Amino acid sequence: MQTETLLFKRQSGGPLHVLNCFPNTYAVGMASLGFQSIFKLYASNPNTHTFRYFTDWSENHPKDIDLLTFSISWELDFINLLDIFKQLNIPFKAADRGPEHPLILGGGPVLTANPEPWAEFFDLIAIGDCEENTGQIIETALDVKEQGVRNRKKGLAEFLSVPGIYLPSLKNKVERQKSKSSDLQMSSVIAPDSAWQDTALLEVARSCPEMCRFCMASYLSLPFRAAPLEQNLIPKADQLLEYSNNIGLLGASVTQHPEFMALLKYLVKHPKKPKVQVASMRAATVTKEMCELLVESGTKNLTIAIETGSQRLRDIINKKLPEEFIFSACKYAFEGGIKQVKLYGMVGLPHETEEDIDATIDLLTRLKQATPQLKIVWGCSIFTPKAQTPFQDYGVDKTAESKLKRLIKALKPQGIDVRDESFKWAQVQALISRGDRSINDVLIKVAQSKNTGFGIYKKLLDPDHYKHWVFDTWDAMTEYPWTALVSKKQKEMLEEHKQIATNLSL
Ligand code: SF4
Repeated sequence: MQTETLLFKRQSGGPLHVLNCFPNTYAVGMASLGFQSIFKLYASNPNTHTFRYFTDWSENHPKDIDLLTFSISWELDFINLLDIFKQLNIPFKAADRGPEHPLILGGGPVLTANPEPWAEFFDLIAIGDCEENTGQIIETALDVKEQGVRNRKKGLAEFLSVPGIYLPSLKNKVERQKSKSSDLQMSSVIAPDSAWQDTALLEVARSCPEMCRFCMASYLSLPFRAAPLEQNLIPKADQLLEYSNNIGLLGASVTQHPEFMALLKYLVKHPKKPKVQVASMRAATVTKEMCELLVESGTKNLTIAIETGSQRLRDIINKKLPEEFIFSACKYAFEGGIKQVKLYGMVGLPHETEEDIDATIDLLTRLKQATPQLKIVWGCSIFTPKAQTPFQDYGVDKTAESKLKRLIKALKPQGIDVRDESFKWAQVQALISRGDRSINDVLIKVAQSKNTGFGIYKKLLDPDHYKHWVFDTWDAMTEYPWTALVSKKQKEMLEEHKQIATNLSL
């Protein structure tokens, strides 16, 4: 592995031994700003000695680890999580662990939305942002260690005083932590072998004010916060550019930052002439000048999520995107020198009809005709319901696979590349995203099986249960596994959005 550059003072020799684990490869983990931030929070604390652990690489760590942390950002990573337990000789279930085992803490968006399918794997689950409670987690873990608490239950109970910490064994009421600061994250490590190769990452904005009704990135982290340009983003960018000539601007809605253009101009005119990459753009914010600046900074591709070509369906899902902005974004991209636009979309959205699929084929065809020299890629996923969003009640559309096939058949001859997603794995994602605690045993059996293919999930689950978690549309009587995490105000807001969508579909 090539040498990393650390951008903070890493502590070593503290009494609390921590292993920051990421249930995927080093390249994926180090491309996650969330994981990098956790690593910095722990490794810069003088009370810790912190090491990292990935599925394909780990730092040399002592045997006596006190606290293991996991950042979970993808449902299907559960298999890697359980693999890491196996490698470290840790029982899968918290209830089977004794004083000789470290405390296991999980966090990240997947666990924040619905911790229950994972509940028995973790001693502690951090719900929400971790910037403000990590210091207290470390102090409490240290207290527990120093007291030499042989009784695991008693030691764990100490964490009840830490805000945002859920103890699955006690099912305590917990409030999701929201960092109120607009001082957002930036790389703590520049890693040549990260999926964002050698790139310094800068979080420009958090959450998204658009509130598309399927989107966990928006609803789970509201309100939208934009880091101040002069006092925050520019000094951080200057600092990052001392270490790397590549800069990645991150956030659910980067170009929605009110001063995004000023930041982009600053970077493009910077004496170090960095290559600037932007995670994903909102079509309505794309201008010719923006594209020219991105091209000048070495970017050749744009990514824009339009979700569907149907205006009716975009209204239902709350994607406030008139068709003319999709056309203007592609026109400006081409005129500005961009070579490829990747448009993201979905099939199987709630209230979708076959006419909506026709509308997507029609829109993409017209788009290709309007800008024939621009390479257009249609990245198409399958809608999977996410807990704590207005579309949490809608299951996977059983006809999604045939809709996807129809799109591919119609678009390929137009010269439009289609990158599709597996219908089978979308079902497993839905199962883990809406499941309850009974799913824990299913996931353990999958991890213990030699055959981890799709078929095993159906084999292990009673067909009625599978249908309930994966395909059914839930009604108002359904008790969510995550009910305790949702405030009355949030519940009302989600119901109101769901009702508006239903009314628009009639
Ligand atoms: S615009 Fe994108 S990030 Fe924002 S709510 Fe919609 S899907 Fe989510």
